[in-house]
Amino acid sequence: MSEKRKYKKRYCKYCEAKVDYIDYKDVASLKYSLSERYKIMPRRLTGNCKRHQDMVTIAIKQARAAALVPYTVSRKVVAGAPFEEIR
Ligand SMILES: [Zn+2]
Repeated sequence: MSEKRKYKKRYCKYCEAKVDYIDYKDVASLKYSLSERYKIMPRRLTGNCKRHQDMVTIAIKQARAAALVPYTVSRKVVAGAPFEEIR
């Protein structure tokens, strides 16, 4: 049944850490939901719950506008692609 599932258990990291509010200035916690190219990770990969995913999405967009998180990263900067093999 879970044969196809390559990524680990799904749980919401923010729920686990009991986060009620995600601050856009807290880049470290935003990074949980960003890919190595600073794209917002879909919920199916991160396992975030809807509530936190929405918060994170808003926070990331604010952080981008405030230039705390880049919109895009050039190919050279990308080190690894941990989520490449899912799909
Ligand atoms: Zn959550």
